[in-house]
Amino acid sequence: MKIEKIHTHLLDHKLDQAFESASMRFERRQHCLVEVVCDDGTVGWGECLGPAKANAAVVDIYAAALIGQNPLETEKLWLELYNRLRDQGQRGLTVTALSGIDIALWDIKGKHYGAPVSELLGGRFRDSVRAYATGSFRRDGIDRVQDVADEVAGYAREGFHGVKIKIGFDVEEDLRSIAAAREAIGPERRLMIDANHGYDLLEALEVGKRAEQYRIDWFEEPVLPEQIATYRAVRDGQPIPVASGENWHGRYAMLEPLSSRAVDIAQPDLCAVGGFSEIMKVIALCETWAVRCIPHVW
Ligand code: CA
Repeated sequence: MKIEKIHTHLLDHKLDQAFESASMRFERRQHCLVEVVCDDGTVGWGECLGPAKANAAVVDIYAAALIGQNPLETEKLWLELYNRLRDQGQRGLTVTALSGIDIALWDIKGKHYGAPVSELLGGRFRDSVRAYATGSFRRDGIDRVQDVADEVAGYAREGFHGVKIKIGFDVEEDLRSIAAAREAIGPERRLMIDANHGYDLLEALEVGKRAEQYRIDWFEEPVLPEQIATYRAVRDGQPIPVASGENWHGRYAMLEPLSSRAVDIAQPDLCAVGGFSEIMKVIALCETWAVRCIPHVW
């Protein structure tokens, strides 16, 4: 069995209404899918997190090295591809593009052996998980606080056991949104807040201290992902558990936040951290450093 072709597919949808996180405005939703085709007709699919065209360009760079290779040798191929761009890119697009390829290769492996990837990775502990709903992005010309309350009340009605809302825009407005969300979902459901690294240290500390009364499960990406020491200061200086990881790509990016206990919860994204091959290593690191792991998805 050999890899014959690599195709990238760009999904592109113009939104009826633009929305914003604290760090990004979305007029469109765009994603890069990776299709790996083998000489025996087996096809595997993967997905990359982040800018679709940029991911596709990096996948194209990797593709030449994949043609003619055995797709089942996922560990070997991961290292060979990573090594091609290692000197210029140990994280970012080089790893998000590699993630899409790795996921596609595991898809091929599952089809080849007629087994779910969970079994090939060593087995699963459960057959279902409880889902929380993420939303409440900021929209133009709509009352922010009421909009958050209405949206999360809908998720509660749909049966989600928890919701995660977007903050990181403005401290006072964010605190009103958090209060409104807790009011809307009632006292029992879980509530998480995600600042998309929109705060500086002082804002993060203030929000964490004042939001504690609303029983928040975690405070996600309070500050910039490059600033690991600042994460430690947020964790030390306010009472809500700190979460992050969607922008820490690969085991080496995860190592310092975990080993220095900069976060309480690590959030690797399968489509960004390096695919199945790499997320298993990150999970092992989380176990080693006793940091809770809750995967991210976009
Ligand atoms: Ca997030």
